[in-house]
Amino acid sequence: MKKTPPTTTAASLLERLKATPLYIQIFIALILGVTVGVLFNDPQYKDLLNGLAIFPNLILKVLKALAPPLILVAVLHAFLTAEIPARTAPRLLFLLLSNTVAAIVIGLLVANTVQPGLHSQLTAPLSGVRATDKVFDPLGLIESSIPATIVQPLAENNVLQVVVVAITFGLALRAVKTQQQQQGKRDYLPLEQAISTLFELVIRVLGWVVTLVPFAVFGVVARVVGLQGFAPFKALGFFVVAVLLALFLQGCFYLTRVGLQSWVKPLDFLKGGSDAFSTAFSTASSTITMPVTFRALTDKIRLRESSASLGALVGSNFNNDGTALYEAMSALFIAQLLNQNLHLEQQLLVVLTSIVASVGAAGIPEAGLVTMTLVFTAVGLPVEYIVLLVTVDWFLDRCRTTINVMGDMTVAAVLDGKQPGSKEPLVTGA
Ligand code: ASP
Repeated sequence: MKKTPPTTTAASLLERLKATPLYIQIFIALILGVTVGVLFNDPQYKDLLNGLAIFPNLILKVLKALAPPLILVAVLHAFLTAEIPARTAPRLLFLLLSNTVAAIVIGLLVANTVQPGLHSQLTAPLSGVRATDKVFDPLGLIESSIPATIVQPLAENNVLQVVVVAITFGLALRAVKTQQQQQGKRDYLPLEQAISTLFELVIRVLGWVVTLVPFAVFGVVARVVGLQGFAPFKALGFFVVAVLLALFLQGCFYLTRVGLQSWVKPLDFLKGGSDAFSTAFSTASSTITMPVTFRALTDKIRLRESSASLGALVGSNFNNDGTALYEAMSALFIAQLLNQNLHLEQQLLVVLTSIVASVGAAGIPEAGLVTMTLVFTAVGLPVEYIVLLVTVDWFLDRCRTTINVMGDMTVAAVLDGKQPGSKEPLVTGA
């Protein structure tokens, strides 16, 4: 009988693995993790199980390292590509901000009511600041958001400062581009192309990291089940339900806003947006969904193209309400797990940093997980617990992306006003 050369078998196995959707890989990793955890649930295997933390720890390290460059190029890229007419800017800003604040408040209300983290307890690391020691110091926060040198935030991985630098230079770059365009110059083009390429580059690396997520899931699950049993996952289950509930309430908030502040009927909004919602859920990327969002707004819901493009283009870059809600809830959840209940002051800090983190989050899969380090660091929570969330993030990412897209569409509908536009030509070829 002819034997298949081992390299060919390995290659075809790799091909098959690549063709398997990530969620199935994660599901397999979950089952393997549980099996290993149950089989090695004995103190004599403690070192072995602790050794498995290498997978999630490595991924967390890479995510942390990727956060500053990702935020920097994503924000610069967003400023260069988004077209915001000066007279709409204040209204747009108000809409974006009020939606995000509503999302975070809903998230915090649900997290404080359901208290998912109280369903099991983890021991906090011995060293380091406790989240409850942090005091809300807005002036100190403003002061610390300005870096001593331009490169310091990148060198020290200070995500808040990176966001500030990125927004400042993004605004300046935009102004320079507009001025040069008015003068008929095109000197900005090489820089714009370089930033676009850099953005693609970071996304490519993040994509590689995402392919390794199943290993992290396996490591976390096997270690947690082996050392602590299923108790932490019970809490994680409550957390998933709490996040879903909060996202649902945020969806209701959008529909109410659309009903009250635009000419679009909420039901038509839901029906017309169904393609965009399903694309967002299946891709976990509001950026990839953007063309579908735009088309749903113009063709199905029939908004004016100007409002549709503002909502879809600007929104998919800066408006990530689902992400903001998720980051705030995650911080509260981990604090509850560590028995460090955050007081109102610290929750305010969570609100502020979640807003900044959601602006810095690119519309790509797992971006929220990357910027979450900002929220955790700001409130003094140990970032190593973010790996626990990796086990459920693949699913919650899809759900929050759908809400992110729904938020962009809400902004577009409200900007369209109370009167339907005169019938504009539909985009053909849908
Ligand atoms: N995946 C989300 C989006 O594309 C961002 C996130 O990870 O929260 O909108």
